[in-house]
Amino acid sequence: MAHPNLNQRNITFTIEELLEAEENYEGFCLACGERRECCEPDARNYECDACGAFQVFGAQELILAGGYCR
Ligand SMILES: [Zn+2]
Repeated sequence: MAHPNLNQRNITFTIEELLEAEENYEGFCLACGERRECCEPDARNYECDACGAFQVFGAQELILAGGYCR
């Protein structure tokens, strides 16, 4: 299994998507881009329900990390 890498920049989101997701406690999978519910804003390396990768990060993490906003 590949190591989760927050520097992966091939998936991006709009700031609106990220802020909305943060409010709704959702995160995003950086492997496939799928949205995941029940995800703390500062979650890291959660398992993705869609692809099984431990690449789900909370919306706030993605905002703070930078580089994920279009
Ligand atoms: Zn995924």
